[in-house]
Amino acid sequence: MNIILLGPPGAGKGTQARHLVETRGMVQLSTGDMLREAKNSGTEMGNRVAEVMAKGQLVTDEIVIGLIEEKLTTEKGAGFIFDGFPRTLAQADALAALLSKLGQSLHTVIEMRVDDDALVDRITARSTCSGCGEVYNDHTKPIPADGRCTNCGEQKEFTRRADDNEDSLRTRLMEYYKKTSPLIGYYYAKGDLRPVNGLADIKEVTASIEAVLG
Ligand code: AMP
Repeated sequence: MNIILLGPPGAGKGTQARHLVETRGMVQLSTGDMLREAKNSGTEMGNRVAEVMAKGQLVTDEIVIGLIEEKLTTEKGAGFIFDGFPRTLAQADALAALLSKLGQSLHTVIEMRVDDDALVDRITARSTCSGCGEVYNDHTKPIPADGRCTNCGEQKEFTRRADDNEDSLRTRLMEYYKKTSPLIGYYYAKGDLRPVNGLADIKEVTASIEAVLG
């Protein structure tokens, strides 16, 4: 079963993807994580994408499609969760072609619906456990006083993403509405789209996704 989690930055795609990895043994393919890894590795490609990401713009289709293609052929599990990919119509077409080449298909596209005010609040208050990726929020889920992650139990660093600031976020939202939101119509027309309310409590969102996946 291969699924896409579609939604703007801060919709909760990463949090829900991690849950599906833990409960169903699926493989999370986050192009954002792959690009951050490339950025930190100091490779030529990493250096090229770093600036684009810091501004909140989209990296070229060619780069992200290449990253996804490599993972699709090397990673194994009970299906793929595409998190933050595809983000353009060209990426959506490329994904369909890659899956078909592997004799696979797309099961469902889960559209995580949230409103912009909630996104700004979530993103500017967000931090992540560098050990396991658990997401915290300064207001609703603060980092534990003892510095021990509630998910992995480790005392790792809690990091804020370089692009989680208001300037970059404004560009990321514009990029989403201009280039990614047309995918809602694209997958709706194919009969693949299943909306869930991404504003609900994390556990309720998880339950809605479980209900969709069956
Ligand atoms: P994310 O972690 O999904 O919020 O992605 C962080 C940043 O990585 C985005 O703002 C883009 O600069 C870049 N990025 C991630 N996925 C893609 C994609 N599918 N296409 C283009 N750029 C991407």
